[in-house]
Amino acid sequence: MKQQLPQTLRQLSDSFLSKSLDPISVVEQCIALAKTRNNLNAFVSLSAAEARKHAENSAERYRDGKHLGVVDGAPIAIKDNFCTKNVPTTCASRMLKNFVPTYNATVYNRLKRQGALLLGKTNMDQFAMGSGSVDSIFGPTKNCWSENLQNDEFRIAGGSSGGSAVAVASGVCFAALGSDTGGSTRNPASYCGVVGFKSTYGLLSRHGLIPLVNSMDVPGIITRNIDDCVAVFNTIAGPDDRDSTTIKSRFEPIQLAQSNHISLKGLKVGIPIEYHCEGLSDDVLKAWTDVADMLEDAGAKVEPVSLPYTSASIFVYSILNQCEVSSNMARFDGIEYGHRSDEETSTEQLYAKSRAEGLNSVVKNRILAGNYFLLRKNYEKYFMKALKVRRLIANDFDEVFRKVHILLTPTTLSVAPLYKNFMSSNNRDQCAVQDFCTQPANMGGIPALSLPIRLSEELLPISLQLMGPSFSEQTLFEVAKWIETQVQFDRYY
Ligand code: GLN
Repeated sequence: MKQQLPQTLRQLSDSFLSKSLDPISVVEQCIALAKTRNNLNAFVSLSAAEARKHAENSAERYRDGKHLGVVDGAPIAIKDNFCTKNVPTTCASRMLKNFVPTYNATVYNRLKRQGALLLGKTNMDQFAMGSGSVDSIFGPTKNCWSENLQNDEFRIAGGSSGGSAVAVASGVCFAALGSDTGGSTRNPASYCGVVGFKSTYGLLSRHGLIPLVNSMDVPGIITRNIDDCVAVFNTIAGPDDRDSTTIKSRFEPIQLAQSNHISLKGLKVGIPIEYHCEGLSDDVLKAWTDVADMLEDAGAKVEPVSLPYTSASIFVYSILNQCEVSSNMARFDGIEYGHRSDEETSTEQLYAKSRAEGLNSVVKNRILAGNYFLLRKNYEKYFMKALKVRRLIANDFDEVFRKVHILLTPTTLSVAPLYKNFMSSNNRDQCAVQDFCTQPANMGGIPALSLPIRLSEELLPISLQLMGPSFSEQTLFEVAKWIETQVQFDRYY
């Protein structure tokens, strides 16, 4: 479906500068689009009144020549696990259905200060636990590339930031924030044909992001192209006094050259043999091989490399995830935070009832498993062991990045599955397949990016992933931009 709005943040800001568009009319169009595409279930709430108010301020800045930067006046969306002042933040759960934060997450604050307009909060798997955006109290998000949106015939959006990916892919907003603990930004970006990026751990503040796995969580960025991703990254990255795990040194903004000035000579690209895994579809494999050849033809050296601990990754991730979940979720007890059951007979009953009513079975299972792994008798056997293997997984990356600059892999093993097929397995098995290529980067804390490459025969997006050593964002974005220019992915669904 073709539309009149500009495609990218850069084009949008140029059209504000040239006065061919103004933020007020753009925000109106985006609100109207969000309503007509309501059937995709990308948003859990719209902040139309707020967005309109801020659009007026932005329009005034453009009129007075005092605009703030490339995101000024741009409608954006934010996953519903980032705190937004006076705007409900539900984590798609009954537990937080009525939670209205009194403060903004740092990453949102920084976008807001630069004039971005919050259009709405996006759908997700409850508490970001999942890979499909199917486990939400608001119902599943539907992929805008689906051949059929009726009943359970639609394609999943991927997850857990599926709402954000669909909001961007369907043209409703220009950029969105997701979160990425094991692939939740890159996975839906891959299925929806948009760019999905997770930075080096600590470059983006987690303040105000409701935690899943603190040691792996990173805010994620979803945009329609690499330039926009860089623009958003430059706006939100850098130290934050409110998050002690942010990197303390000053953040140097990424400066991207035009793609015809990007040279691949001397670039070494690794193809991890372990990512040729069971379940990898032929069309993803073909796209992977073609892009590797393309890089080689342009002067890069492409070679197979090995990350031997990849196969342990899903198990280790799963244990560490559940342990951190059991501890993080303890705050949702119906007293300090969240849903409170009416059926209390004692304080213990109140805890139990509130949690039983407020959390879905995926969250409950993870809490139970995490508590089991953390029992005194199991602590060494599971939690400590998983931490040690996590170190080995991170070491694999350190080793390999002595030989190559970046890694090229699939993001997902196939195109977006049909909802009805996806739902035939449980959350744990879904994550094991969906996150195979994405979880290792979170355990290593390294940056990773998913980039759409082409459409499959069924006209569904196929994407690939680039990973680099910590703080290699500049190289990652340059190579991604070079590939983007070569493949010319058609962003319209
Ligand atoms: N699918 C993974 C999980 O459920 C990753 C989630 C995420 O990155 N937030 O834990």
